[in-house]
Amino acid sequence: MTETARKRRVLLKLSGEAFGGGTLGVNPDVVSQIAREIAAAMDDAEVAVVVGGGNFFRGAELSQRGMDRARADYMGMLGTVMNALALQDFLEQAGVSSRVQSAITMTQVAETYIPLRAIRHLEKGRVVIFGAGAGLPYFSTDTVAAQRALEIHADEVLVAKNGVDGVYTADPNQDPNATLIDEITYNDALVRGLKVVDSTAFSLCMDNGMPMRVFGMEPAGNVTEAIRGEQLGTLVHR
Ligand code: UDP
Repeated sequence: MTETARKRRVLLKLSGEAFGGGTLGVNPDVVSQIAREIAAAMDDAEVAVVVGGGNFFRGAELSQRGMDRARADYMGMLGTVMNALALQDFLEQAGVSSRVQSAITMTQVAETYIPLRAIRHLEKGRVVIFGAGAGLPYFSTDTVAAQRALEIHADEVLVAKNGVDGVYTADPNQDPNATLIDEITYNDALVRGLKVVDSTAFSLCMDNGMPMRVFGMEPAGNVTEAIRGEQLGTLVHR
């Protein structure tokens, strides 16, 4: 297949909160639903996933409670690997072949992060799940989603959110007049301090011309539609 004829390729960012269904740990029903939504779109796109880990640990929160920040961040990264394995399991149950690649070497449970191998998996129709973030403390999985999207030459970063369905003019939980923005530039989002996604991720995408769609996990079917290229939520672009 030539470069111009290749299938749409997306990098889907799933937060840890999605996996936990609002509590600590993994909610199998929720992860199974996400896996089925990804499976439903596999004819239309190549799918790579970056998983968060906030349903287990967030380094910044643990460090506020007295832990060394870097060590706490490593705990956060290990949490993302558990989510990655859960997603892999439910993807396989949904009939989709998948591979987990970890930024921290743990050969028994995951492949090591090798970008060219990840691309090869995608070309073969496998979902590639990136675990352990960047393998570096002080980073977030949003930023890793932007970086991985760039490195695997994705067409778009899809950021699935819980409890919010896109980028708003203000925090919709605090300002009843906040409205959903259909389309915005990275620069405007940064200048206006719209923080649905962390600013490092925005900057990385802005500097490298990578478009990002921010959308809500609800209602069911949104993940499938976003992967297929439906115009949900907010498009953020250069
Ligand atoms: N983390 C990290 N480096 C990375 C990615 C993640 O140190 O490259 C740690 C960090 O402590 C973070 C935690 O892993 O709080 C879980 O990731 P994140 O908060 O991005 O997950 P989400 O909010 O998407 O569930």
